[in-house]
Amino acid sequence: MNAPREAFGHALLQALNAQADEFIAVRRDIHRHPEMGYKEYRTSDLVAEQLERFGYAVTRGLGGTGVVGQLRRGNGSKTLGLRADMDALPIEEATGLPYASCNAGIMHACGHDGHTAMLLAAAKHIAAEVQFSGTLNLIFQPAEEGLGGAKKMMEDGLFSRFPCDAVFAMHNMPGHPQGHLVLRDGPMMASSDNVTITLDGQGGHGAMPHQAVDPVVAGAAIVLGLQSIVSRNVDPQEMAVITVGAFNAGVANNVIPQTATLRLSVRALNREVRELLEQRITELVHAQAQSYGVHARIDYRRGYPVLVNRPQETDFAREVAQALVGPDKVTLQGKALTGSEDFAFFLEEVPGCYLLIGNGDAASGGHGACMVHNPGYDFNDDNVAIGSAYWSLLVERFLKD
Ligand SMILES: [Zn+2]
Ligand SMILES: [Zn+2]
Repeated sequence: MNAPREAFGHALLQALNAQADEFIAVRRDIHRHPEMGYKEYRTSDLVAEQLERFGYAVTRGLGGTGVVGQLRRGNGSKTLGLRADMDALPIEEATGLPYASCNAGIMHACGHDGHTAMLLAAAKHIAAEVQFSGTLNLIFQPAEEGLGGAKKMMEDGLFSRFPCDAVFAMHNMPGHPQGHLVLRDGPMMASSDNVTITLDGQGGHGAMPHQAVDPVVAGAAIVLGLQSIVSRNVDPQEMAVITVGAFNAGVANNVIPQTATLRLSVRALNREVRELLEQRITELVHAQAQSYGVHARIDYRRGYPVLVNRPQETDFAREVAQALVGPDKVTLQGKALTGSEDFAFFLEEVPGCYLLIGNGDAASGGHGACMVHNPGYDFNDDNVAIGSAYWSLLVERFLKD
């Protein structure tokens, strides 16, 4: 064995590689039986059963189907939380894999099956082999996909019942080389808000527009007006997205409808920009509506907040990542993403770091390169060993004797 490989945590990778088959089988079993958010009954049973077998104290029912496995060692006072998500998506799987979903219309198309398996693999290794002093909380959350399972667990007292000095999470990402680790301090994932605008006009005959108040024309002006917010109000150095994903009005050529509805997705990577977007959208919609004589109702729903990695915990995670796979396979400051993630709620209360693990790219033969939320996507099983080794080394270092 040569020295540099040892120095890059090779022994730990070997140990977790040796038990990887067991957890690849677990991953494929979960993949075959995907469950939607808050309905992860079978998955959470499986998680709880495994954690108990490994010697963890298991608590169930946080956020409905959430599971926490706790392991205490020594008399250290430090506490650590590691999080995996368990839910699937409403997608009909088209991979043709032997372990493809047997639940019609539901699919693990975001790799949460892999996240759960990686954390379980780490749980087994840590319980059997890792020396530490303190409290380890393994958090398996429900309903990451749009339903805010992380927040639900917090409302059920997650951090008061299981205090954590820091929390960490990992998400696979197609388009990055398999097993590469991508970190970033500061904002990493966008906030995501949903806005529904209803324009009330006055319907009428298409031949007599002067006797009606047309919400279609007003809506069209609003769609165009909204484009000026990102280009004219937001600092050019900041990121913001306003997408009008739906514009519904009318049913016939010769009828001016009574109402029109717009549905928006609004994203930002900065809390102040998020506030600005809400303020400007509200002002602009009401002003435009008034100028066309229609009445606007705005239903502004705040979704996931901006995910912000803290510098100290990110530096710590960078060191763990580099020690494990070597600096060549670690991106120290990757790009922020316009997607959103409900781990952001955890990070609003507890410092921590969320990182990406490459699922594979086109250069590596295309395996793992298919994007998440696509019916052809599959989690890359080669990451089970690397992901669980990362968790194990992180625990060993964070809860050092
Ligand atoms: Zn997803
Ligand atoms: Zn996901």
